Formats: sequence, structure tokens, C-alpha cells
Amino acid sequence: MNVKLLKPILIALLFSAVTVHAESSPQVKQVAGYFLQPVGNLKVTALFDGELGLPRSDLLGISSVKANQLFEENFVPVDEHNQVVTDFSAYLVQTPTQNILVDAGTAKCFGPSLGHVPENLKKAGLQPEQIDTILITHAHPDHLCGITLDGKMVYPNAKVYLAKADVDYWTSAQNEAKASDFFKPLFKMTREALKPYQQAGQLIAFSKASFDVPNVELISTHGHTEGHSSYLIDGKNGQKFLGLGDVVHYAAVQFPYTEASYKPDTDAKRAIAVRKNIFEQAYQNHWWIGAAHVAFPGIGHIGKNVHGYQWIPAQYRPEQ
Ligand SMILES: [Zn+2]
Repeated sequence: MNVKLLKPILIALLFSAVTVHAESSPQVKQVAGYFLQPVGNLKVTALFDGELGLPRSDLLGISSVKANQLFEENFVPVDEHNQVVTDFSAYLVQTPTQNILVDAGTAKCFGPSLGHVPENLKKAGLQPEQIDTILITHAHPDHLCGITLDGKMVYPNAKVYLAKADVDYWTSAQNEAKASDFFKPLFKMTREALKPYQQAGQLIAFSKASFDVPNVELISTHGHTEGHSSYLIDGKNGQKFLGLGDVVHYAAVQFPYTEASYKPDTDAKRAIAVRKNIFEQAYQNHWWIGAAHVAFPGIGHIGKNVHGYQWIPAQYRPEQ
């Protein structure tokens, strides 16, 4: 065969293969990452920050066989490293008088697949300057870093509330020196995120006794971190929204098996007890939930399952 002819044939074959592949798996650019849910007189907006794979090996207290079975049965997506694709969300909660942000996303702390809270907030119709209150569930970067970008406040008119236990722990040089390689970088991230708000007098490091935000009840959910906090926001007429934070990371496993824990939890035993307790309270009281790492929008209710609990996602409704 003429070798000169071979090259164009090969190129043609290659192109046809590429075309077939492109047709079988289309590139999808997702719609804007926000979702609206009224809760009593509250307007709640889930804001997508991004996604990241969590290692299966960080799930403790359950056999890997059982955990993998649950991931498969629930069709949980996996990434190219066979890690569990996990969503990261923040929640805008608008009361008649407040624009509250529960957590603020990651900014640049965890790489380019995250950091989309501000753009999704704008797409939802609000400017960062309009946020007056930020309730941070805990000092980990995927919840806190997003308040600051390149050393500047992203939300210049907001007061930032974070438990004093978390502020003290995650800004301490002594704790940083003792920390494992996994946790060490988090200290600098925490200091840098808090710095402009501290300097402007807009950081409120609260204790259980001093916490005071209108329409918001603090529920201490320590365990994942020293000061981990959930926030119950009152929508009146018995309607309440709970900004849950990191009480659950692997939804497919930890709703039915609350005893399964997440390796980076500061106090796994306490985190397990807290998970059981808050799931039961949410179930009994019919609270709406905003769960940072449950599949976007992570808004829904907690129900009972044959084993443990189950997540009941909100239903999309164009008008309510
Ligand atoms: Zn988190």
C-alpha cells in the first residue's frame, strides 16, 4: 500500500472516532447553580460552590463493602480517581429584614472546581454588598474561605459569625505546629479569611451564651470541629430552616448509618451522637434542611428509613 495514502486515512479514521465519541458523551454546560425554596416567610436560595471527590477511605465505622454497595445503589457519581463526587453549597436566607448567608464557599482554597458562590449569588439576583449577616458553620476552608478573595472582603457590609471555639483553635500557632500535614494548611487559610473582617471589627466570635442574631437560634453541633454550629432560622408559623453544616458528608451512607463517620472529624464519637440527635430533631419537627455536602441543592427534609434515616429532597416548583 502507498504509505503516502496511509496518513490521510489514519487521520480520517481518528477524526471519525473522535466524532463518534463526542456524539456519545455530550459536553454539558450546566444551568446556573442556584435553587429557590420558600420556607414560611423566608426565601431560601441554595448557592452551588462546586464539587470535589471525597476519598472512600475517609469513611469510617462501616465496612467498605457495605459503603460501596450504598454508593452504587444510590447511583452516586464517582470521579476519575474513583472518589465519591460531593457537592459544596452555601445558603442565602432572606428574612423580611435580613440577607443572611449560611457559609460562604471555598473561594480559591480548594482549586478551580469550586469557588462559585459569589457568581451564583449574583445570578440569583443579589449583590455581595447586600449581604448583612454571614453565619459560618465551622472554620474549614470550604465554608469560610469564600468570605475573602485576594485579601479583600467579598461581603464588605456583613458581620461574620463564627464560634469562638473555632476561631481560637484554627488561628492558633501552637495548634498549627502540632497539626498533621492534612490540617496544617488550614490554619493560614483561616487567618487570611478572617483578617479583613477582624480588622474592620466585623467578626463576631460567639459563645453559646453570647450568640444573638434576630430570627436565628444557634444549635451547637460540635464534633466535626470544636465549635461546629448549625443555625435554625425562623420562617414563622412553625416553618423553620436549618443550616446544617457538616453533620453529614456521605449522604448515601450516613443517613441510614449515622454511626459511619468522616475521618477529618475532630471528635468522631461526638460527631456521631450529634448526627443522630439532630436528624431525630429535624425529623420530629419537620424542619427544612440546607445540607452543605448533600447533592445540590441540598435542600429537603429528613425522613425515617428501614435502617436509620433518609434524605427527602425538595421538589422543584416554578411558583409557590
Ligand atoms: Zn465541608
